[in-house]
Amino acid sequence: MATTPSPNTTTSALDAGLIWLDGQLVPQEQATVSVLTHALHYGTSVFEGIRAYETERGPAVFRLREHSQRLLDSAKILGMKPTMTVEEIDQAILETIRANRRKSCYIRPLLWYGPESLGVSPARNLLHFMVATLPWGVYLGEEAVTKGAKLITSSWRRSSGDIMPTKSKAGGNYVNSVLAKEEALENGYEEALLLDKEGFVAEGTGENVFFLKNGTLYAIAHSVNLRGITRDTIVQLARDMGTLVENTMATRDELYTADEVFMTGTAAEVTPVASIDRRPIGPGVAGPYALAMRERYLQVVSGKLPAYDRWLTYVGG
Ligand SMILES: *Cc1c(COP(=O)(O)O)cnc(C)c1O
Repeated sequence: MATTPSPNTTTSALDAGLIWLDGQLVPQEQATVSVLTHALHYGTSVFEGIRAYETERGPAVFRLREHSQRLLDSAKILGMKPTMTVEEIDQAILETIRANRRKSCYIRPLLWYGPESLGVSPARNLLHFMVATLPWGVYLGEEAVTKGAKLITSSWRRSSGDIMPTKSKAGGNYVNSVLAKEEALENGYEEALLLDKEGFVAEGTGENVFFLKNGTLYAIAHSVNLRGITRDTIVQLARDMGTLVENTMATRDELYTADEVFMTGTAAEVTPVASIDRRPIGPGVAGPYALAMRERYLQVVSGKLPAYDRWLTYVGG
């Protein structure tokens, strides 16, 4: 039998430095959990993905409050009862960034049930909270951004809201994303397009989907997809730029004939789509609207457009 080195003794490929764990900053090597952790067995965790960007006034977290609030909402959906307030989550995140002297980073807060019981009911399990900050670049690769990503419609569907809590950014939900992502990568694509049970476009594995047709920007409506904070940002930016924006349900073939398709997420930022199921979208390269929107988004998050300063929390310190 193949043995794997103990996860606690190997050096991690990730460089998280100091991690916030239940109220204290501890070195990454000491931020460990029991193998009997409830969340490890049953997926009972909720998380966030947040980014801090370099600005002229030092690092700033993009839409921090909305992310902290969504973490609490995700926890509420799972019936978790965190004792922390949204302000305390904000502060833990800011302190972790300061302690690691990050100029820019990806931020991963996580709430999960501990090892007190392995019963399905987590009633006796204690809730834990951690924040890790990681140096991180372009999610789908520089090439996917400039050339446009190649998507494939996944053979995995997004669960309905009566099967999984689709509005919660829950660890357990991500088994579905992992399966879809692996299937896409193994077949030579960069990302999966997931449909819902009825065959309507839901989202990517961790991104919301937009398409442009005859000058109107269509945002895939909220159904079984996550309420993306980047999606909300892009809708507002597009309207401010004078684009007509509509929320819509769409089938996969409507995307095939769109002028442009792009995906949004904290990790993916704005990623243009070049093809879906080997059909070129528009001319089959990153579209001009998506690239312009990506530029605009990167200006907003890095504090270059004062009109959107309300979305930035300067780390200071
Ligand atoms: C996190 C996530 C998104 C994107 O949300 P943002 O708030 O824009 O980062 C979209 N879909 C799923 C399933 C996600 O988990």
